[in-house]
Amino acid sequence: MPHLIDTAPTDWAYLSEGGATIVFTYTGAPNPVFDGTVLRLRKGPLELDGDSRLHDRVLSSRTKVFASDEDLAAYYGLSPPPPPRPHSPEDPTVEFQRECIARLIPPAHLPNLAYLDATGPTTHVWLETLAAQCEPHRPPERRRTDGIEIAEPTSVLATDLVGGEGIAVEIKPKWGFLPSPMYLSDHTRAVKTRTCRFCMHAHLKATKGETVPRGYCPLDLYSGDESRVKQALSGLWDAWVESDGIVNSFRVFVRGKKIRPAEKSTIVGIANDLADPKEALISALLPVLMTTPVLRTLAHLQRTLDPLDIEGLAALHAQADAPLGPEPTLDEYTAFVSAYLSGGASPADLRYHVLAYLLSATFKDCSVIVRVPDGTATIIDLDAKSVERVRKWHELDWEIACAYALVPEGERKMCVDVVGQ
Ligand SMILES: [Zn+2]
Repeated sequence: MPHLIDTAPTDWAYLSEGGATIVFTYTGAPNPVFDGTVLRLRKGPLELDGDSRLHDRVLSSRTKVFASDEDLAAYYGLSPPPPPRPHSPEDPTVEFQRECIARLIPPAHLPNLAYLDATGPTTHVWLETLAAQCEPHRPPERRRTDGIEIAEPTSVLATDLVGGEGIAVEIKPKWGFLPSPMYLSDHTRAVKTRTCRFCMHAHLKATKGETVPRGYCPLDLYSGDESRVKQALSGLWDAWVESDGIVNSFRVFVRGKKIRPAEKSTIVGIANDLADPKEALISALLPVLMTTPVLRTLAHLQRTLDPLDIEGLAALHAQADAPLGPEPTLDEYTAFVSAYLSGGASPADLRYHVLAYLLSATFKDCSVIVRVPDGTATIIDLDAKSVERVRKWHELDWEIACAYALVPEGERKMCVDVVGQ
């Protein structure tokens, strides 16, 4: 296994980041292992980093007044220092993709993933150096909340899908279906079966002052109807421009570099000869999205892995009067995928539906990278979700639906799902 320190931190240029990971492009000297790759590192919350640094400072200046680290921490209003955890050089990202995801999505539409060894005494300094180096390039709102996970790093080497001479667009398509009315409560049924989850969530976010892609409905993007797909891309573009590139649902990379809306003229002349950047990009993306199977596959997986809706899952959970269970192991996921592919399980099997919902969430939260003029579409960020989030998703779902129920009926968005019509 290649090691992080086979390269220098300066060989990696900041590319972009999401909620859980931060990505760098290899820009070092030609090297058959690293050429054409990106480095994907796990992020950790800043509070913890700050806390542990504070712990170190406070604990190193301790006096005899405090009987233990815990007493000292309590005095300073800190949570007790975490016990040392066994070093875990790997999370199951690579195995999860190989054993589960690749059985559900044709591998031609997935990036190659491989671990990069991040163990050893010098890794810490290497990562600290990279973290300091990339800080000025990160969005301010991200810098305030998290950073590269240094204590327990996870480093994955992946295919660089945005480099090269063309244009790459990263789209986060989100939920591609309306729930079946069968398991919805009387309070939410009328709302949730007409307006899609993304559009309702966008409304809630907008009421909280966030910039959201108002003109974008995922059901348009997934519809397979050319004019609706075009409408979806137009909505994503407009949100990208209006938010000055802040929205996470649309990112544009030209010749390997993420561009801001102010640099949109660099799009012109690469994929076609249209003079308007928006027209040029949408015209180039449209034929790829109309022919690739990735959107259809994603929507099908999301829908069939979430047949109950979170409300139905919560009802099943209450009925079973049993815990949701521990985090699924890789073996459990593998067995689940076999059961799913062979036609599912009994409707009352709580654990089956927990795993199905988690996997559905993975497909609701991934991104698609479309390259033009190459004409490829690849799905990225297919990470396993934690079972601990199920309860929060249920609360959020309730909040979203209740907020939308307050919108007068005549003003509610009607989202059209092609399946079930
Ligand atoms: Zn919608």
